[in-house]
Amino acid sequence: MSDCVFCRIVAGTAPATKVHEDDTLCAFLDIRPIARGHTLVVPKTHAAELDELDPELGAHLFRAGHRLALAMRRGALAADGANLVLNDGRAAFQTVPHIHLHVIPRKHGDRLAFAKGFLLRRPHDPVGTAAAITEGLAALDRPNLDSEGTAS
Ligand code: AMP
Ligand code: ZN
Repeated sequence: MSDCVFCRIVAGTAPATKVHEDDTLCAFLDIRPIARGHTLVVPKTHAAELDELDPELGAHLFRAGHRLALAMRRGALAADGANLVLNDGRAAFQTVPHIHLHVIPRKHGDRLAFAKGFLLRRPHDPVGTAAAITEGLAALDRPNLDSEGTAS
């Protein structure tokens, strides 16, 4: 849908800082992040709300969000946790009518910074932030080595 900004991001005709994509989904930094690393995961095919989304694709979307949350812990963002949130419909404050899963990294004791980020929604170094997430994703793919160099 050419009038949908997330479809345009998927197609590469609108700007975005992408951190991951596969055949069916795409993840990019939120343009007005609540916290550094705030990422959106979207299906490549347009679905405005959950009632239009293939449940298998929804499961894949969550799997990608799960992995991104782990990457945010593992990489330079050094997150201690994450909020994974999906606002389904205007009644739930969905503002962009193309389904998206928010993955928002959290740190212990960040309550004040999070509240400030929620109000200000300022971007933080998108290039460095994306690199921190992609490094975290790559770290998930590397085997854990014990002190003798044996992979587990
Ligand atoms: P929601 O309220 O769940 O619909 O959230 C929509 C999110 O999309 C907000 O966090 C916006 O900052 C974000 N957003 C809107 N337009 C763009 C864009 N062009 N690129 C990246 N994020 C966007
Ligand atoms: Zn769309």
